[in-house]
Amino acid sequence: MKVTDHLKTAKDTLFSFEILPPLKGKGIQSIFDGIDPLMDFKPKFVNVTYHREEFLYKERENGLLEKIAIRKRPGTVGICAAIMNKYTVDAVPHLICGGFSKEETENALIDLQFLGIDNVLALRGDSIKTESSFRPHNDGHEFAVDLIGQISEMNSGKYLIDDIKLEPTNFCIGAAGYPEKHFEAMNLTTDLNYLKAKVDAGAEYIVTQMFFDNQKFFAFVDACRAIGINVPILPGLKPIKTLRHISFLPKFFHIDYPEALSKELLKCKSNEDVQQVGLEWGIAQSKELMAAGVPCIHYYTMSNSEMVRSIAKEVF
Ligand code: FAD
Repeated sequence: MKVTDHLKTAKDTLFSFEILPPLKGKGIQSIFDGIDPLMDFKPKFVNVTYHREEFLYKERENGLLEKIAIRKRPGTVGICAAIMNKYTVDAVPHLICGGFSKEETENALIDLQFLGIDNVLALRGDSIKTESSFRPHNDGHEFAVDLIGQISEMNSGKYLIDDIKLEPTNFCIGAAGYPEKHFEAMNLTTDLNYLKAKVDAGAEYIVTQMFFDNQKFFAFVDACRAIGINVPILPGLKPIKTLRHISFLPKFFHIDYPEALSKELLKCKSNEDVQQVGLEWGIAQSKELMAAGVPCIHYYTMSNSEMVRSIAKEVF
């Protein structure tokens, strides 16, 4: 079932979450172990992230360096199929532009349809460590809007090579939004206009980047509505768990902590202290979003379901 159908038929705010594929070599049980504790809150869909290749340099016997591509977290599509097989939830694979030609994208989408997967979250992806900025595949997409365009074309029966119409796919397409602006965007206005372009190209709902200040989310939703973005907007939340998160999350995800939160975080001396602050903040944030009538709260587990469970227990 499509994410948008779940949202349409929901009576209350839905609970959903995102998981990462395990590091290569770990089995599917590690995924189930992360999902099981969250099933009590009846998620209607579970997102699975996609991770691009990274490049390593390995010294050969002759002393020369060989550049090797590895994917540390493969398996997004297989994990989605395994989740749909084991639980009565829909799986939403993330699909990115980076590293994919248009034909590889088309083939990946065909595989998803064969597996009965009707949902995709369409993203550009970030640059890899060896690039200073995002570089698309030579025959790939530069922006998420172009990927969304390709999926929409397939939904109307138009594939890459054929002039004749083929069997249409049936994907519900989600896109990413940034209440605090995407870090490369010139300003929030240009970013919102590009977000509108994604919706016009076929995105049917938006999932936001994590944020810690609900007022920024509410302002973002208002700004979206003001320029005619009328699709559901799902807030994304991430509980802060460790001392390392305090500086890592703003640096990596380009987000700010509101002052009231930073004051509490500054007092923390241990991971346990941070966890307590993160828990209280996550519960308060979730309750306020729910009271405001958001369609769904989407939690980023980042391979750690424990805190999401503790928050959900108080909220759902
Ligand atoms: P886009 O919408 O293409 O935007 C990228 C930048 O280009 C923005 O600054 C935008 O303003 C600008 N822009 C957009 N269109 C145009 C245009 N036509 N012309 C000029 N500028 C334009 N990354 C992963 O690798 N794997 C994942 O699984 C993953 N999951 C994510 C899930 C969510 C909910 C979110 C919020 C992000 C996720 N990301 C993931 C990270 C995401 O790939 C990065 O944030 C990436 O830098 C931008 O992706 P996007 O789809 O928002 O890009």
